[in-house]
Amino acid sequence: MAEGKSRICLSLTASTLEEDLRLLDSRREFVDMVELRADSLDPTELSHLPSFPKRSGLPVILTIRRRREGGRWNGEEAERRGLLGRSLSGGYAYVDLAEDVHDPALSEAVNRAGGRVIRSLHDFSGMPDRLPERLRALARKPGEIPKLAVMPQSTGDLLALVDAYRQLEDQEKILIGMGEFGLFSRILAAKLGSFLTTCSVAGRQEAAPGHLDPRLLVELYRFRKLDRDSFVCGVIGNPIAHSRSPEFHNRGYEVLGLNGVYVPFLVDDVPAFFRLAEMLDLRGFSVTMPHKRAVLPRLDERDESLRQIGACNTVVHRKDGGWYGTNTDVQGFLNPLQAQAPELMRPETRATVIGAGGGARSVVYALCSLGIRPLILNRTAEKARVLAESFGCESGGLDTDGISRMQNHADLLVQATGVGMEPDTQGDPLPGYRFSGSEVVYDLVYQPLMTVFLKRAKQAGCRIVSGLAMLFSQGAAQFKYYTGLDYPREVLDLKNPIVK
Ligand code: NAP
Repeated sequence: MAEGKSRICLSLTASTLEEDLRLLDSRREFVDMVELRADSLDPTELSHLPSFPKRSGLPVILTIRRRREGGRWNGEEAERRGLLGRSLSGGYAYVDLAEDVHDPALSEAVNRAGGRVIRSLHDFSGMPDRLPERLRALARKPGEIPKLAVMPQSTGDLLALVDAYRQLEDQEKILIGMGEFGLFSRILAAKLGSFLTTCSVAGRQEAAPGHLDPRLLVELYRFRKLDRDSFVCGVIGNPIAHSRSPEFHNRGYEVLGLNGVYVPFLVDDVPAFFRLAEMLDLRGFSVTMPHKRAVLPRLDERDESLRQIGACNTVVHRKDGGWYGTNTDVQGFLNPLQAQAPELMRPETRATVIGAGGGARSVVYALCSLGIRPLILNRTAEKARVLAESFGCESGGLDTDGISRMQNHADLLVQATGVGMEPDTQGDPLPGYRFSGSEVVYDLVYQPLMTVFLKRAKQAGCRIVSGLAMLFSQGAAQFKYYTGLDYPREVLDLKNPIVK
């Protein structure tokens, strides 16, 4: 293991050793070591524990976790220790002993068998006070590796966790934040200085909350490329698990060979996250629902567009410190339009925007920056009126009157409502509108790629632009802000984002 690297440790919790080995084989190429959770095994398997290290072919941690530590062992303690002792002949590289297990004979037996003790403390309920002191106090004698797994319950909890990593920088340790708030610590184990990160095979019962599949750690989060010098970017939201941004950015880093990673952060407290971003020295972060407004007061410098759009989706750490905010949806919207229909990039273009939410506001701003004043139609006509008023446009409802007014604003139709988006993919925001075939039709929805609205437009002979093109284009603009580099074209081409 190279200096500054961390290990990927697959936790195995099947009921038989055969099944554990089958799981390991399904992920072997992504794993550096395994943890055999013998507390999950059928009792009949336990006599075969000495055979496991050799059969696995990797360094193995032997763990028999008791119920109070989140495990399944409910037998006698003497029996458990006896089992640990009898299994050592198999050549376990590590044996996990909880902090309260004071058994010098067993520890010595582990060392005599060539293994090391991992001295663990799991807190599934929250964050113990004074993390650095707790971790330092864990090891009972030199050579033991202290392991502390905690359960952050909020963004604020993460400040104490990252502070502990900083204070324990030079100490060999395993420090893990569990659950969705702690996810970043599993991905950034090498940067933060954790001896290993634990993971589970997806679709199996997680050995601990927040485990990722090792394939994701390697292929999506580039775990094996990361070290203490890796730069970090990310995306904040609540929820955040569905975000496709990590795939987009990390694929770009991979193609360009950058020493960086892009991480999802579940955030419930925006001011606390800004402090965390400073501590982790984030280069920048993307912002998704519901935080696009909440980040505004925290910015040291704002792009001019934010005043009118009122929502920020990109925050960049300036070289001289401080945070700069912008909204790449504007560029993200305009770039595909420029590529598909350059003749529309002029003030004379007659356009309609359907919708009056956050996406529509960015689109209206973008069109107005070209001198185009679109007609804005929305289900709730009052919201369309308010949006139109701030940009000097006309507005109306999504009714027969609105549709008839579209005839004079039909060079470009932009669909900026959530209608037609998964899971309700049969939705059409304007079933009564008949396309003439000469409109350019742009749908912001990107899941599915082809909405019912776009399909109808295409059948009528219109040129169409998919929301995925905008999504990628705004992501590419963010990529440039965070890395200073153009997003690699070959990744974009792979996805073929623009529907022709
Ligand atoms: P938002 O702020 O919540 O606004 C939702 C809009 O959809 C409102 O105008 C709302 O009308 C309208 N709407 C919702 N349900 C409707 C229905 N059943 N019939 C008619 N209108 C309905 O959402 P947003 O952030 O603007 O996002 C809107 C869509 O654009 C989403 O699908 C989002 O994924 C997409 N988007 C894509 C990109 C991209 O990069 N491609 C960027 C931004 C947004 P009311 O005011 O009457 O409720």
